[in-house]
Amino acid sequence: MRMIMLGPPGAGKGTQAKRIANEFKIPHISTGEILRNAIKDKTPLGEKAQEYMQKGLLVPDEIVTGLVKERVKEPDCDNGFILDGFPRTINQAKSLEDMGIGIDSVININVCEEDLIERFTGRRVCKTCGATFHIKFDPPSKPNICDKCQGELIIRADDEMSTVKKRLKVYTEQTAPLIDFYKNKKLLIDIDGTKPIDEVFSSILKRLRGEAV
Ligand code: ADP
Ligand code: ADP
Ligand code: ZN
Repeated sequence: MRMIMLGPPGAGKGTQAKRIANEFKIPHISTGEILRNAIKDKTPLGEKAQEYMQKGLLVPDEIVTGLVKERVKEPDCDNGFILDGFPRTINQAKSLEDMGIGIDSVININVCEEDLIERFTGRRVCKTCGATFHIKFDPPSKPNICDKCQGELIIRADDEMSTVKKRLKVYTEQTAPLIDFYKNKKLLIDIDGTKPIDEVFSSILKRLRGEAV
Protein backbone atom coordinates (compact mmCIF):
# COMPACT_ATOMS: atom_id res chain seq x y z
CA MET A 1 0.00 0.00 0.00
CA ARG A 2 2.30 2.75 -1.26
CA MET A 3 0.43 5.74 -2.55
CA ILE A 4 1.06 9.21 -3.91
CA MET A 5 -1.32 12.18 -3.67
CA LEU A 6 -1.03 14.38 -6.72
CA GLY A 7 -2.84 17.62 -7.47
CA PRO A 8 -2.42 21.38 -7.61
CA PRO A 9 -1.72 23.33 -4.44
CA GLY A 10 -4.90 23.73 -2.40
CA ALA A 11 -6.67 20.78 -4.06
CA GLY A 12 -7.16 18.95 -0.76
CA LYS A 13 -4.19 16.56 -0.89
CA GLY A 14 -3.39 16.98 2.79
CA THR A 15 -7.03 16.74 3.85
CA GLN A 16 -7.56 13.48 1.96
CA ALA A 17 -4.12 12.02 2.70
CA LYS A 18 -4.80 12.27 6.45
CA ARG A 19 -8.05 10.35 6.07
CA ILE A 20 -6.49 7.70 3.85
CA ALA A 21 -3.62 7.26 6.32
CA ASN A 22 -6.15 6.79 9.10
CA GLU A 23 -8.23 4.34 7.11
CA PHE A 24 -5.33 2.12 6.06
CA LYS A 25 -3.20 2.62 9.21
CA ILE A 26 -0.21 3.85 7.26
CA PRO A 27 1.86 7.00 7.83
CA HIS A 28 1.01 10.26 6.06
CA ILE A 29 4.22 11.79 4.74
CA SER A 30 3.81 15.43 3.77
CA THR A 31 7.00 17.06 2.52
CA GLY A 32 5.37 20.49 2.99
CA GLU A 33 4.69 19.67 6.64
CA ILE A 34 8.23 18.35 7.21
CA LEU A 35 9.63 21.55 5.69
CA ARG A 36 7.28 23.83 7.67
CA ASN A 37 8.30 22.07 10.91
CA ALA A 38 11.96 22.59 10.01
CA ILE A 39 11.26 26.30 9.49
CA LYS A 40 9.41 26.50 12.82
CA ASP A 41 12.32 24.79 14.58
CA LYS A 42 14.83 27.06 12.80
CA THR A 43 17.00 24.13 11.69
CA PRO A 44 19.57 24.56 8.88
CA LEU A 45 17.17 22.68 6.58
CA GLY A 46 14.39 25.09 7.55
CA GLU A 47 16.51 28.13 6.82
CA LYS A 48 17.41 26.83 3.38
CA ALA A 49 13.85 25.75 2.54
CA GLN A 50 12.30 29.03 3.66
CA GLU A 51 14.12 31.00 0.96
CA TYR A 52 12.26 29.01 -1.68
CA MET A 53 8.93 28.45 0.04
CA GLN A 54 8.27 32.09 0.79
CA LYS A 55 8.69 32.86 -2.92
CA GLY A 56 6.32 30.04 -3.91
CA LEU A 57 9.16 28.11 -5.54
CA LEU A 58 10.00 24.44 -5.17
CA VAL A 59 12.74 23.50 -2.74
CA PRO A 60 15.62 21.90 -4.73
CA ASP A 61 15.13 18.24 -5.62
CA GLU A 62 18.22 16.96 -3.75
CA ILE A 63 17.00 18.40 -0.45
CA VAL A 64 13.47 17.03 -0.65
CA THR A 65 14.50 13.69 -2.10
CA GLY A 66 16.99 13.23 0.74
CA LEU A 67 14.24 13.88 3.29
CA VAL A 68 11.90 11.34 1.74
CA LYS A 69 14.63 8.75 1.39
CA GLU A 70 15.29 8.90 5.13
CA ARG A 71 11.63 9.01 6.11
CA VAL A 72 10.54 5.92 4.16
CA LYS A 73 13.28 3.88 5.86
CA GLU A 74 11.51 4.28 9.20
CA PRO A 75 9.89 1.06 10.46
CA ASP A 76 6.38 2.55 10.44
CA CYS A 77 6.62 2.60 6.62
CA ASP A 78 7.04 -1.18 6.37
CA ASN A 79 3.39 -1.72 5.41
CA GLY A 80 3.23 1.28 3.13
CA PHE A 81 2.69 5.02 3.29
CA ILE A 82 0.97 7.88 1.57
CA LEU A 83 3.20 10.55 0.08
CA ASP A 84 1.57 13.99 0.00
CA GLY A 85 3.32 16.66 -2.04
CA PHE A 86 6.10 14.37 -3.26
CA PRO A 87 7.13 13.81 -6.01
CA ARG A 88 6.59 17.26 -7.48
CA THR A 89 8.96 17.03 -10.45
CA ILE A 90 9.77 14.28 -12.95
CA ASN A 91 13.25 14.24 -11.46
CA GLN A 92 11.84 13.49 -7.99
CA ALA A 93 9.64 10.72 -9.42
CA LYS A 94 12.69 9.15 -11.04
CA SER A 95 14.61 9.34 -7.76
CA LEU A 96 11.79 7.43 -6.11
CA GLU A 97 12.23 4.71 -8.72
CA ASP A 98 16.00 4.76 -8.23
CA MET A 99 15.42 4.17 -4.51
CA GLY A 100 13.65 0.96 -5.53
CA ILE A 101 10.37 2.18 -4.07
CA GLY A 102 7.49 0.78 -6.12
CA ILE A 103 4.23 2.72 -6.04
CA ASP A 104 0.80 1.04 -6.16
CA SER A 105 -1.49 4.00 -6.85
CA VAL A 106 -1.30 7.69 -7.65
CA ILE A 107 -4.40 9.61 -6.64
CA ASN A 108 -4.77 12.72 -8.78
CA ILE A 109 -7.17 15.29 -7.32
CA ASN A 110 -8.69 17.56 -9.97
CA VAL A 111 -9.96 21.00 -8.95
CA CYS A 112 -10.45 24.05 -11.21
CA GLU A 113 -8.51 27.22 -10.51
CA GLU A 114 -11.55 29.17 -9.32
CA ASP A 115 -12.25 26.62 -6.58
CA LEU A 116 -8.56 26.44 -5.68
CA ILE A 117 -8.49 30.18 -5.02
CA GLU A 118 -11.51 29.84 -2.72
CA ARG A 119 -9.78 27.04 -0.85
CA PHE A 120 -6.55 28.99 -0.39
CA THR A 121 -8.36 32.10 0.74
CA GLY A 122 -10.22 30.25 3.48
CA ARG A 123 -7.43 27.89 4.56
CA ARG A 124 -6.35 28.23 8.18
CA VAL A 125 -3.64 26.17 9.83
CA CYS A 126 -2.82 25.57 13.47
CA LYS A 127 0.29 27.42 14.58
CA THR A 128 1.07 24.64 17.06
CA CYS A 129 0.21 21.30 15.41
CA GLY A 130 -0.22 22.23 11.73
CA ALA A 131 -3.79 20.88 11.45
CA THR A 132 -5.69 22.37 8.51
CA PHE A 133 -9.17 23.90 8.50
CA HIS A 134 -11.26 26.02 6.15
CA ILE A 135 -13.36 28.92 7.37
CA LYS A 136 -16.29 27.87 5.17
CA PHE A 137 -15.79 24.23 4.12
CA ASP A 138 -14.18 22.72 7.23
CA PRO A 139 -14.60 25.21 10.05
CA PRO A 140 -13.20 24.63 13.53
CA SER A 141 -15.82 24.41 16.30
CA LYS A 142 -14.52 27.66 17.87
CA PRO A 143 -13.39 30.41 15.46
CA ASN A 144 -9.60 30.56 15.06
CA ILE A 145 -8.98 27.80 17.62
CA CYS A 146 -7.62 24.37 16.66
CA ASP A 147 -10.02 21.52 17.52
CA LYS A 148 -7.11 19.14 18.07
CA CYS A 149 -4.82 21.13 20.37
CA GLN A 150 -6.57 24.47 21.09
CA GLY A 151 -3.71 26.24 19.29
CA GLU A 152 -4.19 29.47 17.36
CA LEU A 153 -5.24 29.23 13.70
CA ILE A 154 -3.29 31.36 11.25
CA ILE A 155 -3.03 31.95 7.49
CA ARG A 156 -0.12 30.05 5.96
CA ALA A 157 2.69 32.41 4.95
CA ASP A 158 2.65 31.15 1.35
CA ASP A 159 -1.15 31.46 0.96
CA GLU A 160 -0.86 35.16 0.21
CA MET A 161 -2.38 35.79 -3.24
CA SER A 162 0.79 36.75 -5.16
CA THR A 163 2.58 33.66 -3.81
CA VAL A 164 -0.43 31.48 -4.64
CA LYS A 165 -0.33 32.62 -8.28
CA LYS A 166 3.36 31.72 -8.41
CA ARG A 167 2.72 28.29 -6.87
CA LEU A 168 -0.02 27.55 -9.41
CA LYS A 169 2.35 28.46 -12.24
CA VAL A 170 5.10 26.28 -10.76
CA TYR A 171 2.56 23.44 -10.49
CA THR A 172 1.58 23.72 -14.17
CA GLU A 173 5.17 23.87 -15.35
CA GLN A 174 6.92 21.40 -13.07
CA THR A 175 4.38 19.11 -11.41
CA ALA A 176 1.54 18.62 -13.90
CA PRO A 177 3.81 16.57 -16.24
CA LEU A 178 3.66 13.86 -13.54
CA ILE A 179 0.04 13.19 -14.53
CA ASP A 180 1.11 11.71 -17.88
CA PHE A 181 4.18 10.12 -16.31
CA TYR A 182 1.98 8.04 -13.97
CA LYS A 183 -0.83 7.60 -16.51
CA ASN A 184 1.67 5.87 -18.79
CA LYS A 185 2.57 3.57 -15.94
CA LYS A 186 -1.15 2.78 -15.44
CA LEU A 187 -1.02 3.97 -11.85
CA LEU A 188 -3.17 7.09 -12.09
CA ILE A 189 -6.55 7.33 -10.37
CA ASP A 190 -8.35 10.53 -11.40
CA ILE A 191 -10.64 11.98 -8.76
CA ASP A 192 -13.11 14.85 -9.02
CA GLY A 193 -11.93 17.02 -6.16
CA THR A 194 -14.57 19.71 -6.48
CA LYS A 195 -17.07 17.76 -4.34
CA PRO A 196 -17.34 18.17 -0.56
CA ILE A 197 -14.57 16.60 1.56
CA ASP A 198 -16.56 13.47 2.57
CA GLU A 199 -17.66 12.76 -1.00
CA VAL A 200 -14.13 13.10 -2.34
CA PHE A 201 -12.94 10.70 0.34
CA SER A 202 -15.56 8.07 -0.43
CA SER A 203 -14.83 8.21 -4.14
CA ILE A 204 -11.12 7.71 -3.41
CA LEU A 205 -11.92 4.66 -1.25
CA LYS A 206 -14.16 3.19 -3.94
CA ARG A 207 -11.52 3.62 -6.60
CA LEU A 208 -8.80 2.15 -4.39
CA ARG A 209 -11.05 -0.86 -3.82
CA GLY A 210 -11.50 -1.17 -7.55
CA GLU A 211 -15.19 -0.24 -7.60
CA ALA A 212 -16.68 1.92 -10.32
CA VAL A 213 -17.81 5.40 -9.24
P1 ADP B 1 -3.39 20.77 -0.33
O1 ADP B 1 -2.73 19.85 0.66
O2 ADP B 1 -3.65 20.10 -1.64
O3 ADP B 1 -2.69 22.08 -0.48
P2 ADP B 1 -5.48 21.11 1.72
O4 ADP B 1 -5.83 19.72 2.11
O5 ADP B 1 -4.68 21.91 2.66
O6 ADP B 1 -4.82 21.12 0.25
O7 ADP B 1 -6.85 21.87 1.39
C1 ADP B 1 -6.86 23.25 1.02
C2 ADP B 1 -8.00 23.96 1.75
O8 ADP B 1 -9.26 23.55 1.21
C3 ADP B 1 -8.08 23.66 3.24
O9 ADP B 1 -8.51 24.82 3.92
C4 ADP B 1 -9.11 22.54 3.34
O10 ADP B 1 -9.80 22.58 4.58
C5 ADP B 1 -10.04 22.87 2.18
N1 ADP B 1 -10.58 21.68 1.50
C6 ADP B 1 -9.97 20.48 1.29
N2 ADP B 1 -10.76 19.64 0.59
C7 ADP B 1 -11.90 20.34 0.31
C8 ADP B 1 -13.13 20.01 -0.39
N3 ADP B 1 -13.31 18.82 -0.96
N4 ADP B 1 -14.07 20.98 -0.47
C9 ADP B 1 -13.89 22.19 0.09
N5 ADP B 1 -12.76 22.54 0.77
C10 ADP B 1 -11.79 21.64 0.89
P1 ADP C 1 0.52 22.84 -1.30
O1 ADP C 1 0.12 21.49 -1.76
O2 ADP C 1 -0.63 23.63 -0.78
O3 ADP C 1 1.32 23.60 -2.31
P2 ADP C 1 2.65 21.81 0.45
O4 ADP C 1 2.53 21.85 1.92
O5 ADP C 1 2.62 20.48 -0.21
O6 ADP C 1 1.49 22.75 -0.07
O7 ADP C 1 3.98 22.53 -0.02
C1 ADP C 1 4.33 23.82 0.43
C2 ADP C 1 5.65 24.24 -0.18
O8 ADP C 1 6.69 23.37 0.29
C3 ADP C 1 5.75 24.19 -1.70
O9 ADP C 1 5.25 25.37 -2.30
C4 ADP C 1 7.25 24.02 -1.90
O10 ADP C 1 7.93 25.24 -1.75
C5 ADP C 1 7.66 23.13 -0.73
N1 ADP C 1 7.61 21.70 -1.10
C6 ADP C 1 6.78 20.75 -0.58
N2 ADP C 1 6.99 19.55 -1.17
C7 ADP C 1 7.98 19.75 -2.09
C8 ADP C 1 8.62 18.91 -3.04
N3 ADP C 1 8.31 17.62 -3.18
N4 ADP C 1 9.58 19.46 -3.81
C9 ADP C 1 9.93 20.75 -3.70
N5 ADP C 1 9.35 21.60 -2.85
C10 ADP C 1 8.39 21.11 -2.03
ZN1 ZN D 1 -3.51 22.31 16.66
